[in-house]
Order: sequence, then C-alpha cells, then structure tokens
Amino acid sequence: MIDGRAVAARIRAQVAREVTTLTERTGRPPGLATILVGEDPASTIYVANKRNASGEVGITDLHRHLPDQARQEEVAALIEECNSDPAVSGILLQLPVPEALDGAALTATIVPEKDVDGLTPVSAGRLMQGAPGLRPCTPLGVIELLDSYDVELEGTQAVVVGRSNLVGKPLSFLLLERNATVTICHSRTRDLEAVCARADVLVAAVGTAGLIGADHVKPGAAVIDVGINRTEEGLRGDVDFDAVTARAGLVTPVPGGVGPMTIAMLLRNTVIAASMQQERGER
Ligand code: NAD
Repeated sequence: MIDGRAVAARIRAQVAREVTTLTERTGRPPGLATILVGEDPASTIYVANKRNASGEVGITDLHRHLPDQARQEEVAALIEECNSDPAVSGILLQLPVPEALDGAALTATIVPEKDVDGLTPVSAGRLMQGAPGLRPCTPLGVIELLDSYDVELEGTQAVVVGRSNLVGKPLSFLLLERNATVTICHSRTRDLEAVCARADVLVAAVGTAGLIGADHVKPGAAVIDVGINRTEEGLRGDVDFDAVTARAGLVTPVPGGVGPMTIAMLLRNTVIAASMQQERGER
C-alpha cells in the first residue's frame, strides 16, 4: 500500500526548510493568495486546509474572500491586484466559482509566474510543449508518489482513466515527459477493462466509486486512485481497493493516498514560484 500521508509529510518538511532558506535570503517569506468567492461548503473546507498547511510551513497567508454576489470584474480586479503585488508569490482561485461567474476566464488572468495551481492556458501549453512552468498539483502528486516508491515509468505502459483539464490530461503529459507510453481513457472508451489490464501504471481519475476492479488490473501493476467519492460507507476512491490489493503490486488507499499529496505539491509550487520571482528580480 502506498502511504500518501507519509510521503506528503516528508515533502511538507522539505518545503518548510526551503521556506526558511528563501526567507533568510530574501527577507520575505513566500506568500500564497487563496481566493474564495462565495460560501460553497466543500470549497470553504478545501481553502481552509490549504491555508493551514501553508501556515505550518511558514508561507504567509494572503487569503482573500469575496461574497457570493461578486461580479466578474471585481474578481478579475482582485486577481490583477495579486498579480502585481510582490508579496504574493502564488495565486489560487478556488473552483468552482459561483454560477454567475466564468471560472475559466478568471483563471486565465492569473500571471503564469504565480499560477501555483498550474491551470492557466499558458501553464497548460507549457506543459504540453515540455517547456518549464508550474504544473497542476494533483498530477504532480501522482508522479511524486510513483517516484517515492521507485516505480519505473520509462518505456512502461501507463493508462490514465479520465481526461479532465484538472487531472487526466496534465497527468498524461507528465507521464509522457517521463517517457511512459500513455493511453488516455474516458467515458466513451470501449472495453475499458481490456485497456486498463495492459497497464504497468494505472491511474483512475473519474469520480465513480469502485469503477476499477480486479479484472482491470495487470498482476503487479502500480494502481493510483485519484477519485474521491462520498458514499454511504464514507469516502471511497474509483478503485475497488479490497478487490485490487490482491492483484496490484502497489495501490493507493482513499483517503490517505493522492489526497494529501495535492496540498503538499501546492506548497512546493508556491516555493518554486517565489524562488523564480526572486531570481528574476536579481537579474
Ligand atoms: P471530471 O468529472 O472533470 O472528469 C472525469 C473524467 O472521467 C472525464 O474525463 C470522463 O470522460 C471520465 N469518465 C467518466 N465516466 C467514465 C467511465 N465510466 N469510464 C471511463 N472514464 C470515465 O473529474 P476530475 O476533476 O478529473 O476528478 C476526477 C476524480 O478525482 C473526482 O472523484 C475528484 O473528486 C477527484 N479529485 C481528487 C483530487 C485529489 O486531491 N485527490 C483532486 C482533483 C480531483
């Protein structure tokens, strides 16, 4: 079983050391501006978790909260303010924003240098072209878990189930960057089971509890479960954990697998962004 909590704790400790070094060098700690619009309960919890985790590693909390009725121009103006504020190293617009707003258009106004969620079109383009840039946190967390458990990627068959801009697509490019042979599956894929069963590395990022069973898994494969599904039995992943453990070489639990990695990678991205801004300022 892959222990995401342990790997995430190690990364957080490493980030805390990097924050100390950076603060000593520059006289200012990195700052993270989380932007929450409205009162969505899940988003409120996610943002609180991100702020707590940032504080724990010494990142300055520059959180901003706008009311539910905030207009597109108001949110855009706030992002613009954060874009030009040197105390802000990273900007995270918590999605989804209220229905009246265009979340994708707002995300696109974040300057790429501060795009710690890696979700702007510029960051996505840089990833696709293999150019340096900030990468999305959950896909980064998946790669980090695989590396932590010495899972070979080069030349292997990697199957990613899910093609969202948030997880499936960026993860596929990160795996490709590591020279895996990548197959992307989605809701129209025929014979999902047979495609998945070819995978040395299988990642599920769908949002359907227990979709991936033992027959989807090649014996010895590394299986990473990104899914978070609230069921009557509690939080469940996309992988039928009990059925798959006997067959897989490695498997992530839900909770305690990919989840803790996402925030850890956000913290790391914030430090990377602050370092890049610092270096640019010195040039
Ligand atoms: P999404 O709804 O945007 O995308 C789901 C994808 O699954 C789509 O590309 C769709 O084509 C595919 N799909 C749907 N049904 C399918 C089927 N039967 N067979 C094959 N593919 C199918 O979701 P998302 O934002 O990518 O998130 C996916 C899951 O990961 C959700 O459960 C979400 O909660 C979770 N998630 C977890 C974290 C984390 O930190 N652990 C972060 C982001 C998302």
